Amino acid sequence: MAAARKPIIAGNWKMNNTLVESVDLAQGISYQIDRKFDECEVVLCPPFTALRSVWNVIEFDNSPMVVAAQDVYPVDSGAYTGCISPVMVKDIGCTYCIIGHSERRGYFNETDADINAKAKALIAHGVKPIMCCGESLECRDSGEALAFVTGQIRAGLDGIDAKDVASSVIAYEPIWAIGTGRTATPEQAQEMCAAIRETVADMFGDETAQAVRILYGGSMKPANVELFMPEPDIDGGLIGGASLKVDDFISLVNSAAKFA
Ligand code: PEP
Repeated sequence: MAAARKPIIAGNWKMNNTLVESVDLAQGISYQIDRKFDECEVVLCPPFTALRSVWNVIEFDNSPMVVAAQDVYPVDSGAYTGCISPVMVKDIGCTYCIIGHSERRGYFNETDADINAKAKALIAHGVKPIMCCGESLECRDSGEALAFVTGQIRAGLDGIDAKDVASSVIAYEPIWAIGTGRTATPEQAQEMCAAIRETVADMFGDETAQAVRILYGGSMKPANVELFMPEPDIDGGLIGGASLKVDDFISLVNSAAKFA
């Protein structure tokens, strides 16, 4: 990765962990991160039910980590049973919020327009989006992956101010690599992350493109993280399975920090 961008390791816990298990995991991670650690931004993304408690662990320990929600509904408040608003996400201490994860696009039919609305609503309340994108295996096999993913980026970032794009995060996660144990090669991931950065440059200019951080996600683990991190357009990882184990997650953080 380029030295000017600070690496990020974000752990997406998905729909895992009770409250006690979440606090336990957060404490386990917190105990192993030096209070002065600054080489890599560490983001924990627990389920909504545990967000505030995980935030409390981080605050109590004065740990150099932040929390992110895994999704949001793009309206401030109202009669939307079951939804969580950007105001609420901000209120409980979230620095970031994942949007457009392929599981939400797939299981809940989220569109690029929905994701664009979520990004704008979060930014309006000072929460930075971690915007996911990525192609299916069929799409990759058809040779359309670059066009498809850059199309997701164009639609997802449409109408957002350049300064807000610069402080956002994009996560390239090929669907065929999520939770499958199968990773993209570093070359495939780099090719896509470079195309995403070029798209951002085309839409918002070079300065914004050089500032925005682009993560790879898809079966990233301690054994492969150091293959991805040297790639010039990969600034860290969005981690699913390996973020649920303290030792694996800490190992990922320490590996990414070598590329600060
Ligand atoms: C994810 O869901 O964002 C992810 C990358 O999962 P995993 O690391 O388990 O493939």
